[in-house]
Amino acid sequence: MPRALALVGIGEIARNEHVPALRDSAAFTLAATASRNAEMDGIEAYRDLSSLLDARDDVTCVSLCMPPQFRYDDARLALERGRHVMLEKPPGATLSEVEALIDLARARSVTLYASWHSRAAAAVPAARDWLANRQVRRVTMTWKEDVRYWHPGQDWIWQAGGLGVFDPGINGFSVLTAILPHPLHLKTAELRFPENRDTPVAADLTFAGPNGLEAVATLDWLEEGEPNWDVEIVTETGTLALSKGGAEMAVDGTPVPVGENREYPNLYARFADLIDREESDADLAPLRHVADAFMLGRRVAAPAFHW
Ligand code: NAP
Repeated sequence: MPRALALVGIGEIARNEHVPALRDSAAFTLAATASRNAEMDGIEAYRDLSSLLDARDDVTCVSLCMPPQFRYDDARLALERGRHVMLEKPPGATLSEVEALIDLARARSVTLYASWHSRAAAAVPAARDWLANRQVRRVTMTWKEDVRYWHPGQDWIWQAGGLGVFDPGINGFSVLTAILPHPLHLKTAELRFPENRDTPVAADLTFAGPNGLEAVATLDWLEEGEPNWDVEIVTETGTLALSKGGAEMAVDGTPVPVGENREYPNLYARFADLIDREESDADLAPLRHVADAFMLGRRVAAPAFHW
């Protein structure tokens, strides 16, 4: 019997990925939505989550798809009312608010799943296995895309807490923190802020790790054409390349078959598995790298950004 799930914040990602994944899910059925201005054909719609939870005792799971700055109150509400909760990435606007949610989920004995869709990409498990017993020398992460193409008109990404270029860049961090055998820590960061915006449009970061491991990350939101969502990892016994956000993998230039890329179906399968096991999964490592970048980063003025 599938679990009844409510989707909250019906916008780009809810329509493009969550709804199709739920349509094909054996574990969940989309029972209702809560969104101030939007609804889905044929699905019971509420304007806010509180009304939905009042009316629908059968809804035991809630998946929150609104931007990160506006997610905490609904996450807290759902957990307090005994529902299992899945969060879009990034899981919140601050580390502390997500830690508070982790504590609350534990206290209420429900599942909290802070999802990272790029971690569910096809090549990530194979990359992690390939790296497991290797000595990593150098990591190069390149995350460049055209904000006007991928986020048209989304003003929240330019507002405080919206992360700017780290909204896509954190996907790269979610992959790195899942596959590297050793943790990295930030050494330097240069963040370029458009003079009329509160979040950066580009960033250059350097990291260090154990045994002389060095990493660089280059993030740019003004790259036109095909996006670059790539990671190259040089080890003492070969070079691993991930491309297309973790969907494809090559070793020393030779492609490695990894199967179909099914990020969102994988996320919902993981959510169901966590609920069955009565566990939570809320790894904050990718968000911590972003927080460190804002803490350590040198601010550089960039030309004003206009859509
Ligand atoms: P979006 O379309 O701009 O926003 C989603 C919905 O959230 C909106 O349609 C809106 O619905 C609701 N919302 C907006 N502002 C709100 C506010 N102040 N308070 C409450 N609800 C608000 O954003 P999105 O692209 O779907 O991104 C949402 C999340 O998914 C982000 O964390 C993003 O990083 C992640 N994500 C996005 C993509 C992508 O390609 N777009 C990919 C992967 C992950 P109502 O007005 O109807 O309430």
